[in-house]
Amino acid sequence: GTVLAPSGLAAVTTTLMSFVEAGGHVLLTDSTYFPTRKFASGLLARLGIEAEYYDPLIGDGIEALISPNTNLIWMESPGSLTFEMQDVPAIVAAAKKHGVPTAIDNTWSGGYFFKPLTLGVDVSVQAATKYIVGHSDAMLGCATAANEELYLALKTFCVHQGICAGTEELFLGLRGMRTISVRLERHMKTGIELASWLAARPEVDRVLHPALPDDPGHELWKRDFSGASGLFGLILKDVRKPAVDA
Ligand SMILES: *Cc1c(COP(=O)(O)O)cnc(C)c1O
Repeated sequence: GTVLAPSGLAAVTTTLMSFVEAGGHVLLTDSTYFPTRKFASGLLARLGIEAEYYDPLIGDGIEALISPNTNLIWMESPGSLTFEMQDVPAIVAAAKKHGVPTAIDNTWSGGYFFKPLTLGVDVSVQAATKYIVGHSDAMLGCATAANEELYLALKTFCVHQGICAGTEELFLGLRGMRTISVRLERHMKTGIELASWLAARPEVDRVLHPALPDDPGHELWKRDFSGASGLFGLILKDVRKPAVDA
């Protein structure tokens, strides 16, 4: 079951709110999308829920951070801006051992190149604003649950809070889905081409793109993903601002 929200961030916060309890504890990857972090450290803290950030590369080491009041483990792979790949199956295995639900922000893959539910993740969240809508003309979010019980948890929060998406946005989301396979294959091709070009530039220290063979996350990406979207990052050497602008 999937719930729809008026933005990606609303789908993120709906998912977090569906699982937390006063006095609870949420583990979030340190590489998560910044507004997700602001919500966790802001509103959740105000409600008496502790947000703890873990190293995105933690893998099965997450087990040591799980406590009896842990309500949810939040992942995002690759991470926003820093693009670390997470060992999703290892984190899921540790979470399942302790009965802690897991959720992932799956925006980067478009839900097309990565299928978290098949790896045991409980909820997969997407900013549909990005690759699903695909034409920069609507905002939309979705959260897909692995089973009925989890879906009802999400749906109940949506009903309580009045979270729903507009008909025009849903129409535009469905329109985008008709071409998502074609668009994402091109995003992958263009992204890798640009990333490879940048990697060879003297001004560039490092390109952050898991599909490049020398990226530290490449093996995990190859194991779990069937492709790459168009979003990547880069670290520049010490160059002056006018040169960056140029
Ligand atoms: C853009 C984005 C969001 C938020 O989506 P909006 O529709 O802009 O609210 C959440 N997570 C990730 C990873 C994003 O890139």
